Amino acid sequence: MIQSVSFIGLGAMGWHMASHLTQVCSQVYVWNRTFAKAKQHEQIFGTQAVDLTQALQADIIFSCLPTSQDVENLIADSQLKQGCIWVDCTSGVPDIAKRLNQQLKHQGVDYLDAPVSGQTIGAERGTLTVMVGGNQISFEKARPIIQAFAGLIEYVGDSGSAFAVKAVNNTLMATHLWALAEGLCVLKAHGVNLHSAINCINHSSGKSNISENIMAQRVLSRKFDKTFALNLLQKDIGIAIDLITASNLDLPTLNLIQQQFNQIHKTDAQNIDFSAVVKILEQHNQLELY
Ligand code: NDP
Repeated sequence: MIQSVSFIGLGAMGWHMASHLTQVCSQVYVWNRTFAKAKQHEQIFGTQAVDLTQALQADIIFSCLPTSQDVENLIADSQLKQGCIWVDCTSGVPDIAKRLNQQLKHQGVDYLDAPVSGQTIGAERGTLTVMVGGNQISFEKARPIIQAFAGLIEYVGDSGSAFAVKAVNNTLMATHLWALAEGLCVLKAHGVNLHSAINCINHSSGKSNISENIMAQRVLSRKFDKTFALNLLQKDIGIAIDLITASNLDLPTLNLIQQQFNQIHKTDAQNIDFSAVVKILEQHNQLELY
């Protein structure tokens, strides 16, 4: 019987994801490193801002932090309730998921890797795709709670599997962004109206989520609204490339994408939206996509 849930990390994603939990559980604790955000969440959504020790006493604990390392550091100092389930919605590292799964088992706790896709708008609408790896029985227990912010929930396999799927997904998204930007560069050079071109592509076989929801809205508009920091996407591509390297596979396109995306230094990448990476192509080709 799940009586309490908690959400740790009220960032661009977690803020919205946690807001839906009050629909499925009457006791929703929230904790954030910058605690004022948790207090604000409590006031707006009727959750309960608590200290970390109390947040860790819930039956289900969600986390959505930038990296697996951040989650691992938090867990290292934690005393958890036996029988609870940790649902980690961070886009993380498969090997760290496996390690945390083993480590928490000794405390009688199940760890699920449960990264999400759908951007901040999907988090706000409660329509995220949630991919889940780990113990299937614990997953079935947590499913009705995860449902609060999900459109699709898919169990993908053993611990670490979901982090792997997420890393590959985001590397594909990066590939689509880069490839579409290259395509638009050539059309721009040929004097084509890019809004018309995008409209045609979105009704043709070359369309993608990037062509439908990102390129016109953020790049052609020149807004580059920051909802997903470029350094987080660089991290996801790095996770996918590490998986490729560990499997000894020869996959040249994805490696090339990493080289392109890593042209922007991590510290600068923290402050810009991932869509702004196309400015590199623009500079190299001395044109602007608008
Ligand atoms: P944000 O940078 O917006 O938020 C990060 C959150 O984690 C903040 O609440 C921050 O607290 C907290 N935090 C950061 N470092 C630590 C730490 N060391 N210890 C404790 N808390 C910490 O990130 P997002 O919400 O954008 O991303 C979170 C995860 O979700 C990432 O893994 C990302 O890759 C993934 N993701 C992001 C998407 C997006 O569109 N933004 C889409 C899908 C997945 P504080 O407020 O104190 O800074």
